Amino acid sequence: MFEGVLIRAYGGFYYVKKGEEVWECSLRGKFRLEKNTSTALVGDRVKVTPIRGKTGRIDEVLPRSTELFRPPVANIDQAVIVFAVQSPDPNLTLLDRFLVLAEHANILPVICLNKADLLSGRRGPEWLKPYRKIGYKTIIASTKLQEGIEELREVLTGRASVFAGPSGVGKSSLLNAIQPGLELKTGEISHKLKRGKHTTRHVELLPLLTGGYVMDSPGFSSLDLPKMEKANLGFFFPEFEGFITDCKFNGCLHSHEPHCGVKKAVQQGLISGDRYQNYLAFLEEVTQQERRY
Ligand code: GDP
Ligand code: ZN
Repeated sequence: MFEGVLIRAYGGFYYVKKGEEVWECSLRGKFRLEKNTSTALVGDRVKVTPIRGKTGRIDEVLPRSTELFRPPVANIDQAVIVFAVQSPDPNLTLLDRFLVLAEHANILPVICLNKADLLSGRRGPEWLKPYRKIGYKTIIASTKLQEGIEELREVLTGRASVFAGPSGVGKSSLLNAIQPGLELKTGEISHKLKRGKHTTRHVELLPLLTGGYVMDSPGFSSLDLPKMEKANLGFFFPEFEGFITDCKFNGCLHSHEPHCGVKKAVQQGLISGDRYQNYLAFLEEVTQQERRY
């Protein structure tokens, strides 16, 4: 038996990477019987019993560190959230939404600002500052100037990552700059999604030459916030953490409650007002969502 990473599932076969080899595997019967649960997801670390040649049978799925169901993938540890300086203009509500999704899934977010060649000055834009202050890693890149590519390559090394972000920001171009041939087919996928919900999404992990994997399709296509209790939303805004202890009420939602540490911090300029406004909008959304269930 050996341990490997499930990098692709297709047509009833499971492709497991073991070192430089890829083995074609079946899934042990007991996994197939469990309906409604994904018993082996791309990204899973699995134990394989060799059968003959480079074929085998997956006998065990090892515990996952993270799991996403749309797209279905396990053990992703990092989301590179890409926006452009302009064309298209960054949508910060969308960025905050991606950040909440990543925080909720326990996936480390990295913010990448591409098309730096279109920046007016040499410094990053003002709106990036609050994100840096929170402690999010930010990378300024330009595929045109070949800037930030080495930094991205370093960040991806040894990790399983997904690239997220609106179309047109340069995700494919960045991946191609990082490793020629490693291109996201973003255009194709968004086209498919537009055609209908029922197009099965093919998920694949692409091995990086430097070690690590990148998921072949942009993650987080669904922009609904994850299901959660509204009282938990604040935990996915890491900058709230230090101020929550000043909230007078247990389970304070930081909206209408008096003596709220978070609101006070916003007033004092210690928490970004824009982020806080997005928090309030998301809180409304999560409350509506809760009512539906
Ligand atoms: P994706 O939809 O996020 O995968 O974006 P693409 O990689 O397809 O790029 C969208 C457009 O942005 C293409 O026309 C690229 O040539 C252009 N683009 C990509 N990177 C840069 C960059 O660093 N600077 C500029 N000015 N344009 C870029
Ligand atoms: Zn509060």
